[in-house]
Order: sequence, then structure tokens, then C-alpha cells
Amino acid sequence: MTDPSLDKIPITQLKGVGPALEKKFNQIGIYNVQDLLFHLPFRYEDRTRVHQIENIEVGDHVQLQGEVLSNNIQFGRRRSLQCILQDKTGFISLRFFHFSAAQKKSLAPGQLIRCYGEARRGRSGLEIYHPEYKIMPDFNSIPVAESLTPVYPTTEGLQQARLRNVIYQALSLMEHSPAVQDYLPTAIVKNLALDNLTDAVKFLHKPPIGAPLSWTSSETNSGQKRLAFEELLAHRLCMRRFRNVSDEQKAPMLKAEDGLLSTFLKSLPFTLTNAQQKTYREISDDLNGTCPMLRLLQGDVGSGKTVVAALTALHAISCGYQVALMAPTEILAEQHLTNFGQWFTPLGINVGWLSGKTKGASRTQQLLELTNGECQLLIGTHALFQDEVIYKKLGLIIIDEQHRFGVHQRLALRDKAAAGAVNPHQLVMTATPIPRTLAMSAYADLDSSVINELPPGRTPVNTAIISSTKREEVIQRIKMACGKGNQAYWVCTLIEESDALQCEAAEATTEKLHRLLPLISVGLIHGRMKPKEKMAVMAKFKLGEIQLLVATTVIEVGVDVPNASLMVIENPERLGLAQLHQLRGRIGRGSIQSHCILLYQTPLSNVGKQRLSVMRDSTDGFYIAEKDLELRGPGQVLGTQQTGLMSFRVADIARDAPLLDIVKDASETILQNHEEIVEPLISRWLGEREHYANV
Ligand code: ADP
Ligand code: MG
Repeated sequence: MTDPSLDKIPITQLKGVGPALEKKFNQIGIYNVQDLLFHLPFRYEDRTRVHQIENIEVGDHVQLQGEVLSNNIQFGRRRSLQCILQDKTGFISLRFFHFSAAQKKSLAPGQLIRCYGEARRGRSGLEIYHPEYKIMPDFNSIPVAESLTPVYPTTEGLQQARLRNVIYQALSLMEHSPAVQDYLPTAIVKNLALDNLTDAVKFLHKPPIGAPLSWTSSETNSGQKRLAFEELLAHRLCMRRFRNVSDEQKAPMLKAEDGLLSTFLKSLPFTLTNAQQKTYREISDDLNGTCPMLRLLQGDVGSGKTVVAALTALHAISCGYQVALMAPTEILAEQHLTNFGQWFTPLGINVGWLSGKTKGASRTQQLLELTNGECQLLIGTHALFQDEVIYKKLGLIIIDEQHRFGVHQRLALRDKAAAGAVNPHQLVMTATPIPRTLAMSAYADLDSSVINELPPGRTPVNTAIISSTKREEVIQRIKMACGKGNQAYWVCTLIEESDALQCEAAEATTEKLHRLLPLISVGLIHGRMKPKEKMAVMAKFKLGEIQLLVATTVIEVGVDVPNASLMVIENPERLGLAQLHQLRGRIGRGSIQSHCILLYQTPLSNVGKQRLSVMRDSTDGFYIAEKDLELRGPGQVLGTQQTGLMSFRVADIARDAPLLDIVKDASETILQNHEEIVEPLISRWLGEREHYANV
């Protein structure tokens, strides 16, 4: 009998994997041995040697071994267990903020341990927070690692050591019995001189000493290239297959009734830019066809996407079809409701609203109007596609995604929306220009239209880079601007990892600014406020009742206050450029000269300086997006993390950009000539996600 292939061996056959652990693994998409092998580390640690305490400096990642001298619970702002470790050369504190009584007991004075962690400056000098550690009977009982130690993506309750142990078992299974199956056509492997698949997998889990510790290293090793190629290919195949299926489907052919459209255009206080006209023509051609439109509408902040979306909606409505317009947040959906309401109500169009908060009678009424066809345009959040929402004649879906929806969510939505016999057309709008390489991957299923010019009469924002040591001067500038009747934003960026702490920081800043600027009315908006509260604050800001608005990065989306002409962004070095660009796009919406101050924390790294200079020197979103990808700071493991668009296990859009054109060609070849490997490849790399079951 031949061995079953690795994707047929359940993880429960491995030592130590019982039902409880199996559940944890399932949570991160691991069901069988192949899944384990393709669960790849995102970084490595060097535990091949033991460091001496006297040589440690802040920021070092070190492996230590020594004797526990004492262990004490300390009370302070946060309760913690402090454990002093001694080796021949000195002492250091290990600190645990989460610990059990049993753990305290096991770390008794006199106990020998080996531990690994990052040295930082703590209460008692150098400390290591939550080191990974092993109790040792004596120092020779456990050899040090012979290869780099992988660190895996994981979930709560599944410790690295556990995960590592199980994956190592899978690796030895792979070496002793069947190899992982290589699906790629030989011609492709040969042409690209790709590594052998089994070797590549092994290399990535157990790189030898001296291999780079991080994926972002510029030196791509060949094992990495092998797997990155296959991963990118699987993603692209998945999206292209979606597209091919969609192209076979029927959509309503929409021949617009021009009267309604020209009435609308005449009602606008401006004429469309050439770019707006061109993109609408592209959309219109799609709508006139018989298969569903799948189009991405890209345009910089303020380029006027909303009007194009409105024309698209009218086009469908004029043909007797319903339109659903979905936004990622309530605040943004509300903004659309205001705009579309103003534009469409005079045209006699019924505009509806549905969010998760629409309850009771108004919900029932809205659902009724949808089913009987009275409601022609429905605006809202995710709630638009809940199961009990039934459209009479849905012809078009517009998704204003602003990067809040991942690729998989988008596809899942389309699946739901297209459950009927006729498939609606789809327009996806994104506010952040996307680098070409990223668009090629993340939107491989969509055609693309770009609004590449801004409406006339805008004055580009002037941007200055200022050190936080000059905070006082910046505050004086706010005083002056507000004195002249202008309004300002003060943006607090992510200082702490947690949302709660970030909001706290914004509250503290608000108080301080309030004290320093007693004559100015200061408001606050942050992510933990209820949508109603947020909207109330925004309304006040719009009316000018609030002059200075302190905000966390939540204002990124959906805010239009033309009178706001000054924005201070604290710690801009912590944000992606695309995000900074988005934030800055909130000012410069009127005719007065606007200013953006990037108030950075010293010292600023070299890359940090370069990144902020890009912001100072350009207001072109597409240029900024390309630079953002190119200049990612260290620690940004995936180029896509900042956009939230796609996440890969091993591929890296910036690093692997040269592979993308090859991936594109290979995917077409495979779809045509090797249909049989499409499914296995997708399932290997996207696994359960492929089914997009949970939106
Ligand atoms: P975005 O692309 O960021 O969604 P909007 O659609 O919100 O941009 O448009 C930004 C502002 O520009 C709005 O106030 C809108 O009314 C205005 N606008 C849109 N198109 C034009 C145009 N062709 N001429 C002048 N102003 C325009
Ligand atoms: Mg917009």
C-alpha cells in the first residue's frame, strides 16, 4: 500500500494533538499535515548560542541560561511577577504580567532555566518581559538549537513551542515518507530554475545558521522564491477563476435612459472633469454588456469618485433596476446618504437606508420597500447583504471599500449578492491609490478605471516636517489659524498597540490643548465612541462650533469640512504613507491654502526621514503609494499589511514584484492547459479561506 498523501493525513495522527489542540489548529486553518507544512514562519530567532548577561544591550534578542535567585510578586501600576536570573556574568530581571501560581512555584530560587526574549529597559534596569523559558535539570540536558528557530503566526492558547513541536513532526513525516506533491508543470519549474518543493519547505521551517532572520531581507533565498511564486500563483488563479466564472454569467443589459442622467448633470454646480467623463464611459460600456461588470474605480482623495458612482447608480435606476451602495463604516455610509439624498430626491428617486442599527418598524418598512421595489437605491453597511434582505430587482452593487474590506470579504459578498439567477453588476471604489503591483494581485479579478485628475481650483496642501521639540510653535500656529476663522485637526496616531490606550492618549492630548488654548473650542473624536456620538461631533465641526478637532486615525474616512485648513499629525513616522496621504486629504478641500504639519518624534531613522520627505514633496497619491511600498521601514513584514488588502504567508509584493508578470502568464497557461492543478494549488495556499464562508 502506498502512503496517503500528506493532505490526507489528519493532524490528530501526530503526537500530542488531541481534540482540544485540534480545535486550536483548525482556528488558524490547519487541518492536515500539508497545512502544517505550509504554515510558514514570519520571522526567526537565533537560539543557536547562549549569551552572557554582562554583554546584553537594550533591544537585543538573547538566549540566556542561569539560576533563579528570587521571585517576587510586585504591585505597581500593573501587578507582575519579577524573577531575578543570574549567570556567571551578572543579573537580569524576567518580568511576567500574566502568570499562574504554578508558574511562580516552578520558577523557585535555585532552579536552572534557559530563556529567550528581548532585553528592554524596565523598572529595575534591564528586563525581559515574558521570555519563553525551559526548566532544566542541568545545563547540558537540552542542546541548543542547531538551526534558526521559526516564529509562526498563531492564535490565543496555542503557544509557539507547541506549534513548533507539531510542525517539526510534520517535517520529519515529509522527509521519511511521501514528499509534498509538486503540482507545478515541469516546464515552469525548469524555466524559472525553481528549487525543489520539499527542500524549499524544509528550508523555510529550519533555515541554517546564517540565513537571514527576516523575510524583508533584500536577499531572497531560493526556497523563499519557490514558495512565494507558488503562493502568488495560487492567489491569482483563485481570482482569475472567479472572474472566468463571472464572465460566463448573465447580467442585466442596462441601456441608460439619458434624460435622467442629463437632468442630474445639469443640477450639479460644476461640470465633470475629463477623467470623470472617461471613467463613466468605461463603466457605461460594461453596463451595456451582458455579463456582470466587475470594475475597480480608483482615484485620489477628492478626485470626485462619488459623482461617478452617482452616475453609475442613475444609469441602473433609469433602467428600472435597484442599486445597493455599501460602505465599510456607518459614518461613511451616512455621508453617502447625505450626498445621494440631496442629488436624487429632487429627481423623484426613493433612497433607502439600512445599517446594523436599523431596528424595529423602520427596518421592517425598509425591507418591505426593498422587496416590493419601491426603494431604488439602498445605502448602508454590511447589513445590506444579510440573509433576510431581499431585493426585488438588484442590478448594481457599488462597494466603497476604502481598503476596509479584504479581498476575501469582497469575493464572499459578491457570492452572496449573486445568489440569484441574474448577477448584478459591480463597481468597487477605493480611496487610496494602489501601487500597480499590488493592484495586479489584489484586484486580479477586476477591470480598472482611474480618475487621474483633480477637479479644478484646488490649492495643493503645503506640508512641513517639524520636530516635536517645536510643539509650542505649532500650537501658536493653531491659535493663529483659528483666530482667522479657520479650523484645524490634531491627529493622534497609534502610540500604543491597544485601541483603548490610543483613545486615552487622544483624551489626554485634548485636555492639554484645551488648557493651552483656552479661547478655542476643542473637540475630540475617536474609535471607541458610538457612531451617533461620532456623527454629533462631526456635525459640530462642520458647523464650526468646534474649531480644533483632536482625532485618532478614525477621521481618515468620510469627512468633508472645506473650512479646515490646518492639520497636525503627531508621530507621522508610525503611519504608512498611504494612510498619511488619506489623512492629509481631509484638508485642502476649499480654496484657501492649507497646511499639514508632520510633527515627528526625534530621533528619526534615515528611512523615516525619506518617507516623510515623500509626503512633503508630493501630493500625488499614486506616486506616494509606490514610494510607500518601496520604502517600507524595518519591521513592516508585509507590504500589504498597511493597506489591509491582502496578506501572504511568504510572498511579499514589494520584494517579489519581479515575479508578478511571470505569475500572470503562468496562471493563464495553467487555466488553459492544466485545469486539474488549479483546485489543489488554491486549496494548499488559501485552504478554507477559499470558501469565503465568514464575511
Ligand atoms: P472622492 O474621490 O474623494 O470621493 P468626492 O467625490 O467626495 O471625492 O469629491 C470631492 C469634492 O469635489 C466634493 O465636494 C465634490 O462635490 C467635488 N467635485 C467632484 N467633481 C467635481 C468637478 N468635476 N468639479 C468640481 N468639483 C467637483
Ligand atoms: Mg469619497
